[in-house]
Amino acid sequence: MFSETEPLVSITSDSASMPGFYDYFSGIEDLWFLVWLIVLFVWIVIILRVVKDITARTTNFWWHFFSVFVIIVLTPVIGLPLYLALRPLGMKYDKMPWREAILSSMCSCSNCATLNKIEHICCTGCGELLQITCRECSQYHSHTYGYCPNCGAPNIES
Ligand SMILES: [Zn+2]
Ligand SMILES: [Zn+2]
Repeated sequence: MFSETEPLVSITSDSASMPGFYDYFSGIEDLWFLVWLIVLFVWIVIILRVVKDITARTTNFWWHFFSVFVIIVLTPVIGLPLYLALRPLGMKYDKMPWREAILSSMCSCSNCATLNKIEHICCTGCGELLQITCRECSQYHSHTYGYCPNCGAPNIES
């Protein structure tokens, strides 16, 4: 009986004098602590990613507040799917004036989808006619225009 317990005592006294990595994470409580550290790390990373995502989508303070609130209070398990479902579609730069300016100076070919300058008469990708003739003044203009830039007649193809 005594001879069985003696080696155990000597092992524990050895590990107490020389603590290594495995001594710190040997207990089940220590393992849970490690799991919680990883969960906390993932949680914080998701919060940072959500902050980055929502600030790229909107400048509205209440959207910023709601997004972080939902991840912290409801945890990423419920909060993240909720955020992904409710977040505003489209990024801020999609609505910037310079983007509109560039898009309005281009038109897409209805035949091959190549982007052409709005003044082009024929598509540079397939040769398709991009312009239409105004019914009122007979000037060519882009098929994307709502009204003739020359006389203001509505762009109605007939
Ligand atoms: Zn084309
Ligand atoms: Zn016209």
